Amino acid sequence: MSNPPILRLALPTPLQSLFDYLAPADWHITEQHIGTRIQVPFRKQVLMGILLEVAESSNIPAQKLKTALNLLDNTPVLNPADLQLIHWASRYYHYPLGQVIASVLPTLLNAGHPTRLDSPPSEYWCITPKGQFIDPTDLPRQSHRQAYLLSLLQENPQGLSETTLALDFPNPRKTLQALQKRGWVNQQTVMRDADSLSPPLPLNPAQAHAVTQISQHLDQFYPCLLDGVTGSGKTEVYLQLIQQVIQQGKQALVLVPEINLTPQMLGRFEQRFNVPIAVLHSRLSPKERLYSWLQARAGTAPIVIGTRSAVWTPLPQLGIVIVDEEHDPSYKQQEGFCYSARDVAMMRAQYAKVPILLGSATPSLDSLYNAQQQRYQHLILPERAGIAVHPSIHLVDMRTQPRQQILSTALQHYIRAHLAKQQQILLFINRRGYAPTLLCLNCQWTAHCQHCDARLTYHEASRYLRCHHCGIIQAAPKQCPDCQSNNLQLLGQGTERVEEQLQQLFPEARILRIDSDSTRRKQAMFDMLEQIHRGEVDILVGTQMLAKGHHFPNVTLVGIINIDGGLFSVDFRGTERMAQLFIQVAGRAGRAENAGEVVIQTYQPTHELLNCLISKGYHAFADIVLKERQQTDYPPYTRLILLRADSKTTRLALDFLRTVKDYAQQLNITGVELWGPAPAPMEKRANYYRAHLLLQAQQRSTLHYLVEQLQNVLPSLATKDIRWGIDVDPLDL
Ligand code: ADP
Ligand code: ZN
Ligand code: ZN
Repeated sequence: MSNPPILRLALPTPLQSLFDYLAPADWHITEQHIGTRIQVPFRKQVLMGILLEVAESSNIPAQKLKTALNLLDNTPVLNPADLQLIHWASRYYHYPLGQVIASVLPTLLNAGHPTRLDSPPSEYWCITPKGQFIDPTDLPRQSHRQAYLLSLLQENPQGLSETTLALDFPNPRKTLQALQKRGWVNQQTVMRDADSLSPPLPLNPAQAHAVTQISQHLDQFYPCLLDGVTGSGKTEVYLQLIQQVIQQGKQALVLVPEINLTPQMLGRFEQRFNVPIAVLHSRLSPKERLYSWLQARAGTAPIVIGTRSAVWTPLPQLGIVIVDEEHDPSYKQQEGFCYSARDVAMMRAQYAKVPILLGSATPSLDSLYNAQQQRYQHLILPERAGIAVHPSIHLVDMRTQPRQQILSTALQHYIRAHLAKQQQILLFINRRGYAPTLLCLNCQWTAHCQHCDARLTYHEASRYLRCHHCGIIQAAPKQCPDCQSNNLQLLGQGTERVEEQLQQLFPEARILRIDSDSTRRKQAMFDMLEQIHRGEVDILVGTQMLAKGHHFPNVTLVGIINIDGGLFSVDFRGTERMAQLFIQVAGRAGRAENAGEVVIQTYQPTHELLNCLISKGYHAFADIVLKERQQTDYPPYTRLILLRADSKTTRLALDFLRTVKDYAQQLNITGVELWGPAPAPMEKRANYYRAHLLLQAQQRSTLHYLVEQLQNVLPSLATKDIRWGIDVDPLDL
């Protein structure tokens, strides 16, 4: 070849296209280099890109082509299978290829760090015979960090890796060293020996059926929904399948939502398998993250466990994919590259031709629908008889309570009784996806949009009602339009107001509020959980943060302050979320010894969905909601893409989206409906006003075709005052 080859790179810029560069004369670039990192001059900076194509010629005039600067790798950082998934994601999520790559690579690799690391694998820590006999509660109060780690290691005599300990306990090193000085714990660099591993459990028939089904399909794409309540033995199913996969010399990818990635979960993997486990989550340092990533890519870690972004980890020998708590919204990235790790995992399993298990006690309606359509194998683990405790559930009719009273007389009564027994109480407020609306306490009228199947949202400042679907505005009525009663109630309460009322009602009780405000400090959540476990808290007040993962063995009463938040959500997924949280929260009440009670406050005690959920359970509820979705043309029966725009003023954001809408309408693509633009339910965030335009279609392909056209013109339609983004399959509208 006479001419030096043209390098075609993906660069981290908002532009979709690849960028052409000349290779320096002494580089010998071939197809083998596709997937390597190359530094190039771009405008006035140096950018790092990934080589995606090697071409003989370019459309750019030769004198305008710049020469690449540095070749960072001898072997590709991303192999063809990784690139295939990345290409798909860039098309499906309408996000520029170069930016997709930048967001899936570990930060150190983006920064040009070499693909090798000399730091050792995470250390193992073990309890010593001496340490086994120390009672952690005897330690002085100021040593509570030591007491906590000591008890964790006592519970896990085979040892835990430092990475695992760090999940629950920020920066454990110093505390571990202090314990080591006292001779209570020991550092082990060797792997655990085979004798200390815990053997697989004999499976019950439902578990055995699930394991057999999947193990018969280990060498093909085989999507399954593993549907079983907490404690029904899903993790045991994962473990036994992973065992088979490892025995074949392959790798397992296990995804977990952030909050559930606790030492207990990872500890079980470490107790079962004598192999390196690569852990990937947001609390790792950049070096630790790169180390795990490289272990996975080299195939030295047969098991990779991680949160959302772990779905991108290169796994040359992928043999199975597991997505635990598949319904969890934290799998969806909410800004920038808005991917769903669950959906990417599905695509990944399909490309790799391996089984994928979606596990949940409350499967998403999307997954239940796919199971009904026979796209997924539906494997059900029934509850284990005898062990599961069913809490008793009390519905409290809030219409009979004095106005503005947040805690009903009945709930106060239950709280008093449980306080007297010195048991813990958890009060839960569902604020997620919740927007204030008007409700008539007399006749149950709610403010509805006449154009949409959506509730109107009340805006306190200007006293108007607005539809966040189509954007119409109307004055808030002073009387109920149906029954003329003045008894209109605004639905909306926060954790702080509840805390305040509790303090007045129960001055002696020790009350702790847990929400995203009170846990902003890095260590705060840990300290609070510690306080709870030490029994220093009587009443816990919190948002959905409390509903997931954490085990509070002394909680016997769970109160849901206002379940209507979900029933009255502007988001069509509001009821689904409400039900998932309800099942999770109710599950927090009571253990084997102390039967639990659940008190639910509602202004809608006769609400059909709520009663169905309570009396017939999640699946009966899901059937009704799926029928509603079908009748109202919502996903999974239609597809949605949300165009978001943020700006310093509402008008700018709305005007921009109106221009986009006009442009879209001129394209004349049939089968796509455009809703809005309208302000987002939470209109102002961090001084930016947020608006959105919703695109809806029966056919995924039509919708994506339209958005592809828009994607090309959006950068030129937007002024620099506008920040915009495309959210495919949005979770929150
Ligand atoms: P899930 O993941 O659905 O919450 P787990 O797999 O964690 O359920 O199981 C819950 C508990 O039941 C665990 O303590 C586990 O050790 C135990 N368990 C699971 N399967 C079996 C089995 N087949 N026999 C006995 N105990 C089991
Ligand atoms: Zn009324
Ligand atoms: Zn409307």
